[in-house]
Amino acid sequence: MDHIRIWSEVDIGDIESHIVFVDDKFGFCPGCKELGIKIEGLRKCPKCGRKFTYVTARESKGPKGLEMIARIIKKLPHLTFVDYDDYERATGKKKAAGLFNGI
Ligand SMILES: [Zn+2]
Repeated sequence: MDHIRIWSEVDIGDIESHIVFVDDKFGFCPGCKELGIKIEGLRKCPKCGRKFTYVTARESKGPKGLEMIARIIKKLPHLTFVDYDDYERATGKKKAAGLFNGI
């Protein structure tokens, strides 16, 4: 199976509140900062109950990263994989816009 990045218009706030950060084995909930969450079949945070619909991984660059993304997608086929750089850029942009609100 091949994997490609598909661009679409999204509500970054919705992604921010339903995303889980993962590596090959474990997940991190940005909501309650829980570490070491087992990722197989992961649908919500075991600690705070946050529902996950998106997943991203920091170490997902280069050919090794692609293999890792493929493994994550296999383990979490019900989640949408979001490109980490895209996510950082979009949330960073949102934060920057927030800084200038009210000026
Ligand atoms: Zn949580």
